[in-house]
Amino acid sequence: MHGQGAGHGQQGRQDAARIFPVDAIRGFSYFSGQRRIRPHIRARVRARLNLPGSILPFEDIIVDIQLIISAGREKSLLRRHPWIFSGAVAAVKGRPRPGQTVEVVSASGQWLARAAFSPKSQIQGRVWTFDPAETVDEAFFLRRIGHASQRRAALIPADCTGVRLIQSESDALPGLIVDRYAGVLVFQILTMGCEFWREAIIAALRALFPDDAILERSDVDVRAKEGLAERVEVVHGQIPEQVAIRENGVEYLVDVRAGHKTGFYLDQRDSRLAVAQAARTMDRPRVLNCFCYTGGFGLAALQGGAGHVTQLDASAPALALAERNRELNGFAPEGMTTVCGDAFQILRAWRKEERQFDLIVLDPPKFVDSKASLNRAARGYKDVNLCAFRLLAPGGRLFTFSCSGLMEDGLFQKIVSDAALDAGRTGRIVRRLTQAPDHPVDLAFPEGAYLKGLEVAVE
Ligand code: SAH
Repeated sequence: MHGQGAGHGQQGRQDAARIFPVDAIRGFSYFSGQRRIRPHIRARVRARLNLPGSILPFEDIIVDIQLIISAGREKSLLRRHPWIFSGAVAAVKGRPRPGQTVEVVSASGQWLARAAFSPKSQIQGRVWTFDPAETVDEAFFLRRIGHASQRRAALIPADCTGVRLIQSESDALPGLIVDRYAGVLVFQILTMGCEFWREAIIAALRALFPDDAILERSDVDVRAKEGLAERVEVVHGQIPEQVAIRENGVEYLVDVRAGHKTGFYLDQRDSRLAVAQAARTMDRPRVLNCFCYTGGFGLAALQGGAGHVTQLDASAPALALAERNRELNGFAPEGMTTVCGDAFQILRAWRKEERQFDLIVLDPPKFVDSKASLNRAARGYKDVNLCAFRLLAPGGRLFTFSCSGLMEDGLFQKIVSDAALDAGRTGRIVRRLTQAPDHPVDLAFPEGAYLKGLEVAVE
């Protein structure tokens, strides 16, 4: 059963997949995680397996700490989906520490993947690699982060200085988000696996972007699901109060320390451009930017020639930054109004006052965070879209979004359609919108597609 003297490379990988690690190695319970195996033990294993001395980089393979997948539940892994739900785990062999790298093996003993172990999470394993020859170590993070960052250069225009470098699973780094705002890196660690490799991640960022300041903004509640506390920490350099970025001709101040997410909704870059383009084709439209945060869509609309923009949000600090963003871009104060409050109430009140807008953007927060809340969320989306249709002038344009991954495209379209029907309006989808290309979707990971939008031209 040995590898016929195969060395490294493709043949070696196939051999590794075939012979590793499972049955043949049972009983060698003293192997552990990333530690190097002591030479005399290695020799005993080689002897027992009848392996030639050169066959495998034995030291780097974790042979004992294993997640054994229940029979039949390996299918998603064979399709390269990176999540291992606790219900699919038949057994955990060895005593992996939280976040430690484990070998993922099928019930029949087939090596499947190498994953991060997260005992508290419903997703007990997240795959680092499907390649048996790839070791998870410092070099791994340098390589993955380096490649993902390089890929962005071909995707995002050079004059856009706010870029997402790492999009978690879709960049083969489950649980890691890295955004770069004009020389300030802001990262988030969402999973136990990334927490385990935090130092390696920081070292990779330092090596790849030696001149950048680095801030950790791991203040997200999903960390609790992994058993992790929140953390915000300046890791390197000076972090300014606000960082100015450029995006398609508009400048934005980003509050990296206290703003939402890592400070800015980079995922809406292309849709902001679409709004600017729509404003350009209309005649100085009156714009309502509902759920505006720091004003992104509204400023893009002003750039496109909007006559007036109303920026509406429940967050006063976000609106204060929207005002500063207006100034920064030299747009006249009379061209923009900010309104602080609850969108649902305010839109209803404006309906009574018979206010009208020519272009409305609806970019609400994620109403859905579990399947259980989908119904309630659907009502929320329906309600706010209904209000928007009622406020739209004849010939108006609606840009409506959902950033909930659990809300599927078809259902979202139906909700918007129902809202139009109830408002007595006819509309046509003239463009479908989605997350910007620095938020890619790995083909094997459809969950990576979360942001959907419709540009609707109303009669
Ligand atoms: N469109 C923005 C991002 C919007 S994020 C951009 O491109 O930058 C969603 C926003 O909705 C947040 O700023 C949040 O403060 C706001 N929000 C949440 N609930 C709200 C409510 N009930 N009424 C008004 N704004 C609300």
